Amino acid sequence: MEIFKEFTFESAHRLPNVPQGHKCGRLHGHSFRVALYISGTVDPHTGWIRDFGEIKSVFKPLYELLDHNYLNDIPGLENPTSENLAKWIWTELKPLLPELSRIRIHETCTSGCEYCGD
Ligand SMILES: [Zn+2]
Repeated sequence: MEIFKEFTFESAHRLPNVPQGHKCGRLHGHSFRVALYISGTVDPHTGWIRDFGEIKSVFKPLYELLDHNYLNDIPGLENPTSENLAKWIWTELKPLLPELSRIRIHETCTSGCEYCGD
């Protein structure tokens, strides 16, 4: 069983390693959508894997770093592609949320990535 909790945040970024003239090299922003997946067994008493509120609390410090900020300024996100953002969130969050099983990131309505760890 997997549960997920979704978050949305607004961030600016530019991609420093794209070919010259590529639109992603220019400063722009996205309304990112992130889903954090937790896998585990359903507790027979509570009927859930984990309180969604706990996932929100654990993610809050990272959320505040990301929301309404320039991603390139965050250590580890100098090249803030969706793929690198997913890996960065995974690295930061996995020690705090060991049941984390997948991260899905949408950077637009139609583009994004999923990461399940190495
Ligand atoms: Zn972009």
